[in-house]
Amino acid sequence: MNHMDLKPGDLGKPAEQLVNLHDLMPLSFPYNKMGMEPDFPEVKPEWRKKYCTSLDGCVAIDTLTRPQNEREETEFIRKFLNGLEKIFSAANSGVLQPLQLSFEYCAKCNTCSDACHVFKASGENEIYRPIFRSEVLRKIYYQHFTAGGKIKKKFIGADIDINWETIARLGELSYRCNLCRRCAQTCPLGLDNSLFAKEIRKIFSQEMGIAPTALHEKGTMRQLKTGSSTGIGKAAFLDMVEFLEEDIEDRIGRKVMIPIDKQGADILLIHNAGEFVAWPENPAAFAILFEEAGVDWTLSSETMGYDSVNYGIWYDDAQAKKVAWQQMQAARELGVRRIVIGECGHAHKASGVVADRYTYGEDKIPVESWLPIMLELIKTKRLRFDPGKNDFPVTLHDPCNMVRQMGIVKPQREILQAIAPGFREMTPHGVDNYCCGGGSGFAIMSSPNFGQFRDKVSARMKFDQILRAFSDTIIDDTIPKYVCAPCSNCKGSIREILSYYQATEKFNVRYGGLAELMVNALVSIDKPYLEFL
Ligand code: SF4
Ligand code: SF4
Repeated sequence: MNHMDLKPGDLGKPAEQLVNLHDLMPLSFPYNKMGMEPDFPEVKPEWRKKYCTSLDGCVAIDTLTRPQNEREETEFIRKFLNGLEKIFSAANSGVLQPLQLSFEYCAKCNTCSDACHVFKASGENEIYRPIFRSEVLRKIYYQHFTAGGKIKKKFIGADIDINWETIARLGELSYRCNLCRRCAQTCPLGLDNSLFAKEIRKIFSQEMGIAPTALHEKGTMRQLKTGSSTGIGKAAFLDMVEFLEEDIEDRIGRKVMIPIDKQGADILLIHNAGEFVAWPENPAAFAILFEEAGVDWTLSSETMGYDSVNYGIWYDDAQAKKVAWQQMQAARELGVRRIVIGECGHAHKASGVVADRYTYGEDKIPVESWLPIMLELIKTKRLRFDPGKNDFPVTLHDPCNMVRQMGIVKPQREILQAIAPGFREMTPHGVDNYCCGGGSGFAIMSSPNFGQFRDKVSARMKFDQILRAFSDTIIDDTIPKYVCAPCSNCKGSIREILSYYQATEKFNVRYGGLAELMVNALVSIDKPYLEFL
């Protein structure tokens, strides 16, 4: 089927695969030549048999498997419709009002399509329009929950076949949106299409027990069981901190003590636990900076107290609430004055915004971002830098959750202006920036073939922004070029795209956090902190 002719009502139509991703947005120099990027691999026949590959050949929900008989298909549809009714009921009070407004008042002007990096990067493929999935949901709702909906189908916009394929494709389509809300920012009526994607995911998880393994089983479930999304328990965490202290001494030639479980500290610093495993230089950098500035801080070794991750906010309100509440309890028991979230965008939103609705009264402890605090340490001269040490091109990625959704825009720029003379903005940037392509779980979802969708489609616009930001030096592989991504999740996505397009190997494009770049420029440290220097 030609993707230009595809309509929301076609989602239930029989087809082995509704769209093929052949005509993607062209990339900028030097990726504007043939052979610079890998092709999509073939969809394996066993995947077609087992999963829902009939949308675009990619599988995001690895627990969504085909029914074995008619009874299973009927039950699958019944549960979905049951969940659909619930999201429009008073029980869904947290999002009901904006959801209803977005459901009822869309003018179909398509302004939001131009704002969506997935739609643009896909070569403007109809199914990735922000309003495509909303329109499918409207049709299903009108058909089932409107008087005469089943008979008057076409006249009331309810012309859609409701079968396993329709619902399964819609479930998959809810994972073709990064929940970045760039579309909502641009809508002249203030409507939010990302809400539909999030609510569809929620129906699948809460009503049907279906969610990607990376988010649920290996995400929130593992975190609630072991205290961390990494599965690392208290004893192993304490070993890691000891290792960090040794590593810091090796790197900077002096010992830095990392305070653990310090009762009544001013700040409980919580990192995305993935940092300790994948990028230990980042929590190490925080320890160096806080010690040098004389900050009264601590890490927690308690279950739920050292991992700021909360994948629940992307797919399941019940899981999000459990995680948020337990994280707050761990901080309360330590008696700290405030919780400070390190370099993790979704954790900023989960702890600073979403958890605000889940915790009350004495259970609540103020939650702050590390960025204004660090800027204050610079302004009050408690940290001193020699910017000449960061004498290479640096660009900044704005994590959607922190920047567009929470308005933290200036501190990271002021810090970069103080430490990186080669800093240049991406275009566009700030609240208009594009998602890294890994938002809402994509960065950690790669089975069976979802990583291909992320690297080639949802992260395509970000990769293009990186290429354009470094267009003056991209071809010179003797010059390191640093993508500063102050978010664990975004860093994961950028690591994947640089590897997928071999941009480090071919053009010396590097990535990392902001704290590492700050330590690299500290006057008090002689050796380079960044390993590629
Ligand atoms: S939230 Fe972001 S990814 Fe999702 S439809 Fe809107 S612009 Fe596209
Ligand atoms: S910009 Fe707003 S009103 Fe226009 S199509 Fe998108 S959601 Fe609807």
